Amino acid sequence: MDAPVKKNDIVEVEFVDLSHEGAGVARVEGYTLFVPYGIPGEKAKVKVLKTKKGFGFGKLLEVLDESEHRITPPCPIYDKCGGCQLQHLTYERQLVYKRKLVQDVLERIGHLKDVTVHPTLGMDDPWRYRNKAQVPIGEREGGLIAGFYQKGSHEIIDMDECLIQEEANDTVVQQVKKIALKYGIRAYDERSHRGTLRHVVAKYGRQTKDVMVVLVTKQKDLPNRKNIIKEISETVPGVKSIVQNINPKRTNVIFGNETRVLWGTPYIYDTIGDVKFAISARSFYQVNPEQTKVLYDKALAYAGLNGEETVIDAYCGIGTISLFLAQMAKKVYGVEIVPEAIEDAKRNAELNEMTNVDFEVGEAEKVIPAWYDKGIKADVMVVDPPRKGCDEALLQTIIDMKPKRVVYVSCNPATLARDLKVLEEGGFMTKEVQPVDMFPHTTHCEAVAKIVLNSNDAEI
Ligand code: SAH
Repeated sequence: MDAPVKKNDIVEVEFVDLSHEGAGVARVEGYTLFVPYGIPGEKAKVKVLKTKKGFGFGKLLEVLDESEHRITPPCPIYDKCGGCQLQHLTYERQLVYKRKLVQDVLERIGHLKDVTVHPTLGMDDPWRYRNKAQVPIGEREGGLIAGFYQKGSHEIIDMDECLIQEEANDTVVQQVKKIALKYGIRAYDERSHRGTLRHVVAKYGRQTKDVMVVLVTKQKDLPNRKNIIKEISETVPGVKSIVQNINPKRTNVIFGNETRVLWGTPYIYDTIGDVKFAISARSFYQVNPEQTKVLYDKALAYAGLNGEETVIDAYCGIGTISLFLAQMAKKVYGVEIVPEAIEDAKRNAELNEMTNVDFEVGEAEKVIPAWYDKGIKADVMVVDPPRKGCDEALLQTIIDMKPKRVVYVSCNPATLARDLKVLEEGGFMTKEVQPVDMFPHTTHCEAVAKIVLNSNDAEI
C-alpha cells in the first residue's frame, strides 16, 4: 500500500509488536512502521525517516506512555554501538520475545499450529557471557583507540569495556592498546592501507580461564616484537598464548591466511560438560559456552540415545555436538564444509580419547547421500545448519533415510520453520521446540527441535 505518511512527518503511534530485528512495530492507518527501541504497548512520538511501498522506518522521539518492561540500558554506548538491540527491554521480556518469535514463524511459515514451544531457557546472569572479542584498532589524536564500528559506518568508537564480554577479554584489549602505543605501533588505516595493527582478538576459556591474544597485523614485521610479547605475557592475567595473524589484504575480513605463534601454546582449552576442546586463533567455537551446555544437553535429551545408535551430525563445525553425543552413542559421523574445522574436530576427538567418531569434509547434502548409498544409516540425525537452513537435498535424504529422530539445532527460526514443514510433509512430526538464549541483549535466537518419524511414534 502507499504510505499514509512521508519522510520527516512526526506521528503519534502505538507499538503492537516487536520485529525480528527487535524494532517496535506500529501501524499508521494499516501501514507498518518499524521503529528501533519501541516496545509493544507503548505510545510514542515518532519521526518518519523512510517510506517504502509496504512499510517504513521511524525514529523514536519521545515515549508518551512507557511500558513496564522498559529499562535504562546499562551500557552507556548502547545506542551508538549496534552490537546489542534489546538492552532497553527487561531480560525476562527478552526471553518472552524470543519464544514468541519462534511460535510466530512456526505458525506463519511452517503451518505448524500445535507444536509445543517451551519458554526460552535464559541465563541467570545474562552479562559478560562472550568468550571472544574481535576489536578493530584505530588512531585518534596520536593515541590508539580500540572499540567497535559505529552503527552503519566504519568509524571506530573507542571503548574500554563491553558488558556482554568476559572481563578478561576487555583486559586484553586495554593492555594491548597501552603496550602498542608505548612501542610506537601504528594502527592500520583502511583508507590509506597503511599502518600495522588491524585487530586485537581475545579468546577466553571460561572453565580453564586460559587467555589467548591474537594480534592481526598488515605485515609480518612487528616493530619491538620482543618487548611487546614480554609485556603482554607479563601483564595479561591468564595468558597462555600470543599469536600473530598476518592479513595484508584490503578487506573487511578480519583474518589473513598466515598465523604464527609468538609466545606460549598455539591453543587454549575449554570444556563443555565433560568434553574438552582445543581452541586455536582461527577456529570456530561457540561464543557463549554456558548456554552451549544448556543447548547441547537439550539436543542430547531430544536425541534419546541409549548407546546403541548410529548418529549423523550434519554441519558439525569443530565437532562440538558430535563429541557431546558420542559420549552416549555407538557411533557418530560428522560432516562439515570447512577443512580446518574438520582438522580441529579430529584433534578434539583425540584429545578426549573418543574413537567412536568419524569426520569428513564436504557438503552435508552430498556427503550424507553418499554415506547412505554405502549403507550408513542414522538412527538419529542431528542438523545444525547456518542461517540459511538445510539444503533441500539433505532434507530429502533424511526423508529417504528415515532416522527415528531428527534433532534440529537452529540459529534462524524462519528457516527452521521452513525446513520443519518439508520434514512434516515427508513423514516426520515436530514434537517440541526449545528456544535457548545464547545471545542475551541481541535479537539472535537459537532453538532446538525434536522431530520424530511418524510410524514409530508409539515407541518414543
Ligand atoms: N555444530 C557446530 C557448528 C554449527 S555452525 C557447533 O555447534 O559448533 C554451522 C556450520 O555449518 C559451520 O561450521 C559451517 O562451516 C558449516 N556449513 C555451512 N554449509 C555447509 C554445508 N553445505 N555442508 C556442511 N557444512 C556446512
